[in-house]
Amino acid sequence: MADLLILCRTTPEMDKHLAQHFDAVRLEEMSAPQEWLQAHGTDVRYILTDGHRGVSEAVLEMLPNLKLISSYGVGYDAIDTRVTNAARVPVTHTPDVLNEEVATTALMLCLAIWRDMENAMHHARSGDWAVKGARPLPHTADNRRVGILGLGRIGKAFARKLAPFHAEISYHGRTRQDVAYSYFDNLVTMARACDTLVCIAPGGEATKHLINAKVLEALGPQGYLVNVGRGSIVDEHALIAALRDRRIAAAGLDVFEDEPNIPAEMRALPNVVMTPHIGSATVETRFAMGKLAVDNLIAVKEGRDPLTPIPESRGLF
Ligand code: NDP
Repeated sequence: MADLLILCRTTPEMDKHLAQHFDAVRLEEMSAPQEWLQAHGTDVRYILTDGHRGVSEAVLEMLPNLKLISSYGVGYDAIDTRVTNAARVPVTHTPDVLNEEVATTALMLCLAIWRDMENAMHHARSGDWAVKGARPLPHTADNRRVGILGLGRIGKAFARKLAPFHAEISYHGRTRQDVAYSYFDNLVTMARACDTLVCIAPGGEATKHLINAKVLEALGPQGYLVNVGRGSIVDEHALIAALRDRRIAAAGLDVFEDEPNIPAEMRALPNVVMTPHIGSATVETRFAMGKLAVDNLIAVKEGRDPLTPIPESRGLF
């Protein structure tokens, strides 16, 4: 009798850990998921998912005994918390264990665009160096004015990693924090004041297209944009136009509006560096995230409180 429904990819370590505690089934391996849910939905006590796959109201209705949705990732914008709260099903995620990794990804993207690394590497590998000579000089990574949209757990780790580069750091969010960085209550004003805007905020309706044509215009032709938050935060059409017309200098992107699809116009631009949503994707960090996602399930199965509930679920247990 399956008590755990798995909606996402898992690592071999997670599978081993899960097998000791649960009788698991995978939605993607079912030939007729709808029929399975109708026949066996009442047995399901737990769901394991990730930041990309939510659980619809229709599915929740078929799982009346569901006790927990554990999400393997920190961002949970794919999960409609109004629906899970109405069903009184708590949700957990994997905060903190991935802070350093995602911050490193943001730093790598910054370094890559400031120093024009992808084009320089291509110049060496392709043989262009011998044929065409030296490339135009890139700009420095030092003494930058970096504005962070979303100075949360990851944003703070990123700010710390910038210290050796002597960056002047500012941030925008809904609330001023007790930190040594300058606060801007207006994103356009911050974009005007910084030369590099780094987005590490959550996705969802509240942040949709926060980075739009107006913000990009404020960033200006010497300005750089990095996004490791969520693709939905950036108006991709406005970004493509700004990059194409050199109204901003360059962008470094780990996340996109319609993953895994990246618009062809974006992929053709020489002044954008792209990675396929790999912010937390290392063996070590995915191990830690997987362990926490499974430990949350085990805690609830053993009658304990979940370890890392999302803020919206805290009243549910
Ligand atoms: P936190 O909740 O710790 O931080 C989020 C920050 O965003 C807070 O400082 C918050 O400030 C700010 N924020 C939230 N809503 C808004 C808003 N409407 N307008 C402006 N600022 C806002 O989250 P984490 O640092 O742990 O993670 C941040 C995000 O990074 C995740 O939600 C996820 O989307 C993304 N991520 C991406 C990964 C990747 O692989 N690329 C991997 C992991 C995470 P305030 O409350 O003051 O507004």
